[in-house]
Amino acid sequence: MSDIVAIDGPAGSGKSTVARAVAAALGWSFLDTGAMYRAVTAEVLRLGLDPADAEAVGAVAASATISTVPRVEINGRDVESVIRGEAVNVAVSTVAANPAVRRAMVTRQRAWAAAQPNGTVVEGRDIATVVFPDARLKVYLTASLDERARRRGDEGAGSVSRRDRADEGRDASPLRQANDAVVLDTTDLSIDQVVEEIVRWLKTPN
Ligand code: C5P
Repeated sequence: MSDIVAIDGPAGSGKSTVARAVAAALGWSFLDTGAMYRAVTAEVLRLGLDPADAEAVGAVAASATISTVPRVEINGRDVESVIRGEAVNVAVSTVAANPAVRRAMVTRQRAWAAAQPNGTVVEGRDIATVVFPDARLKVYLTASLDERARRRGDEGAGSVSRRDRADEGRDASPLRQANDAVVLDTTDLSIDQVVEEIVRWLKTPN
């Protein structure tokens, strides 16, 4: 399997921006797993399904074709314009708590990483704990709720903290820090500082 850097953390902790920049610095691939759960949610809503209907939603996830680069698509439909919208923000944690959805996404995430020519920086909620427990480096990003809500702009602090509680409280692969993850509070750090720190950790043999 290719080299993996796993980056987990709550909404707005900086995972996507940082993971993308670390991947660029290393010449590695980048996988935004939140975009995959968002794409499934967009498809569930488009089909008019109840996000809490575990069986129907699990079936959508199991049969879906999903790509995240260059644009987020599900079953051949471009969903970039809807996956960060309010409807998806409200429903995504319910969809992501569904064990059948998680199984389907984890299978795709592992296959995707295995197919990359170099290493991969993967960001999400369960990357270090479940998807790639043998990752070369595990990073847990945090930031104050105020700062995370500021970064999420229109979503608002209420929605951000509601999503965090749902992601931390679910039974299937809840958001939590892996025992062997390095923790970085990004509240007062620039993107460049966070990226430099992660690249330094990666290059420091321990
Ligand atoms: O990272 P982002 O905010 O785009 O993730 C959207 C949602 O997808 C999260 O709130 C969470 O419910 C779900 N998610 C997950 N596991 C991941 C990535 C995202 O459950 N690995």
